[in-house]
Amino acid sequence: MRPLAVEPALAWDQPSERAGGPASCSGGLGPTRPQDGRLEPAHALLAVRPLPGAASGSLPPLPRLSGALPVTQPGGSRVDPREDRRKVGAPVSIQEIQEALRPLAQTRSVRWCGVAPQRLTGGEYADVTVWRKAKAEGWEAGFTGLQTCGSPWGCPCCMVKLAAERSELLERVVSRWGLERVLMLTLTVRHGPVLLKPMREQMSAAWKWLQQTREFRELVRRFGLEFVRALEATWSEENSWHPHAHALLFLDRVPSADDVAWMKERFFVLWHEAVVRFLGARCAPSRAHGVDLREASSGRYVAKMGLELAGAAFKRARGAKSMSVAEIAAGAAEGDEACVKLWKHWQCGMRGAKALSWPTRADSKLRELREECEKELAAERTSKLAAREVVATIRHEEWRAVGVLPWVREAILDVVVGGGDAGDVQDVIDDALAEWCRRRATVAT
Ligand SMILES: [Zn+2]
Repeated sequence: MRPLAVEPALAWDQPSERAGGPASCSGGLGPTRPQDGRLEPAHALLAVRPLPGAASGSLPPLPRLSGALPVTQPGGSRVDPREDRRKVGAPVSIQEIQEALRPLAQTRSVRWCGVAPQRLTGGEYADVTVWRKAKAEGWEAGFTGLQTCGSPWGCPCCMVKLAAERSELLERVVSRWGLERVLMLTLTVRHGPVLLKPMREQMSAAWKWLQQTREFRELVRRFGLEFVRALEATWSEENSWHPHAHALLFLDRVPSADDVAWMKERFFVLWHEAVVRFLGARCAPSRAHGVDLREASSGRYVAKMGLELAGAAFKRARGAKSMSVAEIAAGAAEGDEACVKLWKHWQCGMRGAKALSWPTRADSKLRELREECEKELAAERTSKLAAREVVATIRHEEWRAVGVLPWVREAILDVVVGGGDAGDVQDVIDDALAEWCRRRATVAT
C-alpha cells in the first residue's frame, strides 16, 4: 500500500465552509442528526456531473481523467446515455440534481449522502467498492460502503429510492389484501397564507384527534378499518404551500356504494370539526373539495400516496404557477432563486415529518401483512445484489482524498461501465491523486 501524503479534498466529518455550510431558513434548525451510515446507496449510480454554475464543492473541477466511455450494452452495441441529456430541454439526471443541491442541504447527512464512506465501529471508515451489473438497457455501476441519509424530504436521490421501495411494498400489501377492499381517502384544508411547518403539524394533530373520536371508532368497528397515511404538499403562487393527507383505508369486506357514501359523509363531518379545532375556521374544508373517498384504482393510488416519484419527475418548472416538490428541486438545482428559497422552506417545513404511517398495534392485521411483505422484498433484493460484480475496492484514505469530487466519481464509473478492471480504477485514482497534489503544491507556492 502506498503512503498517502495528501490532505482530504473535502472533510465530511467536520463542518466545512467549502461545502457551503448549512443553509439557513426562518424555521430554524435543530441539532445535526448523526450520520447513520446505512449500506447500499443504490442511487449512487452512473456518472455525475455538476450543473453549469451550480456549486458542487468549491474546488475547480478536475480535468477529465478518462475519455467519456460509452456504455456497452450486453448485446454488444454501444450507446452513451449522456447523449440524451445534452438535448435541449432534456431533464438532467437525479444525480446531477443531488450534486447541485448539496450546498443547500440542512444536515450533514444529506450533504454527504452517497459520498462519505461508512463509519465503522471504532471510528474507522469503510473501504469503498465499485460494482457493475448487466441490465437490459446497458451496464449499471455504482459504489457500496458509502453513507446514505435516507431523507424523504431533503435528498433527491433518497426521495426517489424510498418512493420506489415504499410503492413496491404498498402494492404488494394491497394486492394481498385485495384491491376491492381498499378505499382511497384524501383530506385537504382551505388554502391560507400559513407557513408549511405549522400547517402540516396542525394537520397531523387534527388527524390524531379525529382517530380518537367515538365516530371514528365506530367506523373501525363496523368495517374493521385500518389505514396507511401519507403526507404530501404542493406549492402554488396563488396559495403558497398546500399540504394534504392521503390515506389508504383497508376494510374487512368489500364496501357497497352506500357504505362509501356513508363513510365519506362521516369523514367530512369529523375532518371539518378537526380542522376548525386545530387550524381555525378560515382553513375549514369545503364540502366540495375537503374530503374525497373512492375505490382505490390500481395505478392511481400509488401516485396519490406521493410514491410515484422517479428521476423524470425532477424536471425544471421555472416560473410555473403551481409546482410539485420534485419540480422545485429541479428548479433550485438550476439556480432559480425562487425555487432555491422554496426548496429551503420545504426542507425546514418537512424535517421530522413522517412520510408514510403504518399501523403499529400488536393486533393489527395490516401490520402483520406489511412485515410479511417486507421480509419477502428484502429477500428478493438480496438475491438481486448477488448479480453484481465487484470490480475494485478503493481504500478509504484514497476515497477521502479524491473520491468525494464528483468528477472523480464520474471518471471511475465511466471506466467501470466501459469494461475497465481494478487496475483501470486505480489509474483513475492515481491520476486524481497526482492532480490533487499538483494543485495543493500550486496553492502553497
Ligand atoms: Zn440521501
